[in-house]
Amino acid sequence: MVELQNVSKQFGDNTVVQDVSLQVKEGEFLTLLGPSGCGKTTTLRMIAGFEQPTEGTILLDGRRVDNVPANKRNVNTVFQSYALFPHMNIYDNIAFGLKMRRANKNSIKEKVTKMLELVQLQGFEKRMPSQLSGGQKQRIAIARALINNPKVILLDEPLGALDLKLRKQMQVELKHLQKQLKITFIYVTHDQEEALTMSDRIAVMNKGIVEQIGLPVDIYEKPQTKFVADFIGETN
Ligand code: ATP
Repeated sequence: MVELQNVSKQFGDNTVVQDVSLQVKEGEFLTLLGPSGCGKTTTLRMIAGFEQPTEGTILLDGRRVDNVPANKRNVNTVFQSYALFPHMNIYDNIAFGLKMRRANKNSIKEKVTKMLELVQLQGFEKRMPSQLSGGQKQRIAIARALINNPKVILLDEPLGALDLKLRKQMQVELKHLQKQLKITFIYVTHDQEEALTMSDRIAVMNKGIVEQIGLPVDIYEKPQTKFVADFIGETN
């Protein structure tokens, strides 16, 4: 379980996340939804360990991790920009994390093959990132995030760079993958429809504050603040 207790983040005088408390259950798909600049990415980066909270506590499975380095948190991140290594082929891109941990060659090969199957890109081992479409690159980024069995995956607008059709297709694929692997997903988007269709629960953020957290149906049908009602009612 991921837990944030009264977490705040200031950059200089600017409070960008304010007193956020939330719990994400194991295997849950929680989305942080809100307009640009509301503090979604900063919240995600604090969970990942790329930023330190100014105040508050972050727990992973009951263990306090505010001072634990990012690579020791058993949490992986997928960003909007695919962040694949351009000079490495797909095999090496996916295997990178395991090679760093000095896993043995056969087990790396087995895992990379399994991951490529999972994201439906069997046979892509020798291709270079530049030879892949946006959707394929993003699937590789997801495979790479999954390979060392993280308990939690953080996804920051992972489908943001894709066209609408591919985006819809990838929404279905991602949700399917998350259910199949029973992995905890914390997902950032500013797209209401994406949040409503994919999430188990949604936290709607505005100016650094969580305005409402709940089931998609409740966020949609019973918005508790004017902001939530207006934001959910908007079309992209
Ligand atoms: P977007 O959807 O546009 O990515 P967001 O909701 O993810 O927005 P954040 O990226 O968390 O928002 O940014 C929240 C606020 O914090 C913004 O006003 C941003 O300018 C500010 N901010 C983020 N990172 C830093 C930083 N390193 N230093 C100073 N200000 C920052």
